[in-house]
Amino acid sequence: METIKLTFLGTGSAIPTKMKNHPAILASFANENILIDCGEGTQRQFRQLDLSPTKLTRILITHWHGDHMLGLPGLFQTLALSNYNKTLKVCGPKGTRRFMQLIQELIFNYHINLEIHEVEHGIIVNEKDFQIQASQMSHGTPTLAYSLILKDKIRLNKSKLKKLKLPNSPLIGQLIRGKDIIHNGKKIKAKSVVYIDKGKKVTFVLDTSFNKNALELAKNSDILITESNFSSEEQEKAKEHNHLTAKDSATIAKQSKSKQLILTHLSQRYEHNPRIIEKEAKKVFKNTKIVKDLDVIKI
Ligand SMILES: [Zn+2]
Ligand SMILES: [Zn+2]
Repeated sequence: METIKLTFLGTGSAIPTKMKNHPAILASFANENILIDCGEGTQRQFRQLDLSPTKLTRILITHWHGDHMLGLPGLFQTLALSNYNKTLKVCGPKGTRRFMQLIQELIFNYHINLEIHEVEHGIIVNEKDFQIQASQMSHGTPTLAYSLILKDKIRLNKSKLKKLKLPNSPLIGQLIRGKDIIHNGKKIKAKSVVYIDKGKKVTFVLDTSFNKNALELAKNSDILITESNFSSEEQEKAKEHNHLTAKDSATIAKQSKSKQLILTHLSQRYEHNPRIIEKEAKKVFKNTKIVKDLDVIKI
């Protein structure tokens, strides 16, 4: 199965710090390079890792708070100056068309081809090998969380086929469809030569308060990435600002039966003591990790 490379370009929150840029995550696989949110300074983070923003194929915006989108005008300008010749597909919640219009007016001298989609929930992209799902979060402004799903693939055990001296014939098609066949007077069971290469699921739950949709969307994720702006000691503040606590994030990971939890979007208050957040989450969900700017995780 294809590897998904997750590059954490920015792992901070509303105010950037010396160590942390505003939020942005790059998910790369096959010919896709998908940017999830684009805080101010994101394009500079591409340069730090010698990545080219001209390889971008899609942008998923979770919501239009400044820390998640102020990098877009500069990024689009750079793409125009770099002769970006693809059509960049941008998905976001209600209001996305209007905000994208404003950005285009702001950088009126610079043009790239954009395909803008205002989406709500469900399957928003359905390609042959992968799917993107969206679900509405609860953050006081239209906000989405996304899942990226690489689909299961049916594969043939080629060395076994060679041993059985099975030619490249319509019989192979029957095996792929799960039908047993007779070859040279011998029965060959589909199950013995066909197997499923299991797909992968990565879920991105950024700004939101705890909600049922997040649990459903994240169900059985290989990696669940969530914001973790507060600790439980600031429960009231988290509620007031519609954010997750570390405990909330870990509860989503546990209840959704995700395999690993990655925490990002930590408040500047935890710049020097992220362990407080990590410890709290690990009490509920052991396989938890906090990421820093420019960290890369492959699955
Ligand atoms: Zn935020
Ligand atoms: Zn926000």
